[in-house]
Amino acid sequence: MGYDNDNIFAKILRHEIPNDTVFEDETILAFNDIAPKTPVHILVIPKAAYVDLEDFTARATALEIGSFFARVGQIARDLGLPGDGYRLVSNNGENAGQLVPHFHVHIMGGQKIQKGSMARGMQG
Ligand code: 5GP
Repeated sequence: MGYDNDNIFAKILRHEIPNDTVFEDETILAFNDIAPKTPVHILVIPKAAYVDLEDFTARATALEIGSFFARVGQIARDLGLPGDGYRLVSNNGENAGQLVPHFHVHIMGGQKIQKGSMARGMQG
């Protein structure tokens, strides 16, 4: 599947749709999810165009992939999440219910998430 330039996160990156930015640098943008499932619910996306984790890990360089996840960890630390723990989710494709076809990870924290609740939580 090719990259859809009209997906919501592409529009956010082009500043056509506003977002509540948590962190931004030259390669990534992190912003609050519009419909948070947990008290802290942040989406982290690369600025480059990748459809999903499969596309990202197949086409991005190891440096790009490593830098992305290093920044994810740093954002979680900056928010004080590691102490109590947090969940990282990346829905990949149709079976996972991925809604927005621009690779992203969800950082979810601020409350205890029940074991096995991921599917329910992500369906909203
Ligand atoms: P997924 O693709 O992993 O299923 O989830 C996409 C996520 O994007 C959902 O949690 C949804 O609430 C969020 N989302 C959808 N549209 C917008 C938007 O316009 N702004 C923001 N901040 N989040 C959005």
